[in-house]
Amino acid sequence: MASRVSGMRVHLDTEKCQGHNRCYALAPELFDVDDYGQAVLLGDGDVPADLEDKARLAASNCPEYAITISD
Ligand code: SF4
Repeated sequence: MASRVSGMRVHLDTEKCQGHNRCYALAPELFDVDDYGQAVLLGDGDVPADLEDKARLAASNCPEYAITISD
């Protein structure tokens, strides 16, 4: 998938993550879940332009505020 890079970056604080998996359900292109049910970032945090909305959605739906966005 060759997508334009948006300049947006997504950051995951694994210390805060409690493994609700909402991020994975909402944005499987950006997040995966490890063997312990904890979220992991796919890639290096750069958000392709066409995934900006999903990144914001995941951040706003994480109950632990473990996902942050920087533009
Ligand atoms: S939604 Fe938040 S707490 Fe849940 S798995 Fe994702 S990062 Fe972790």
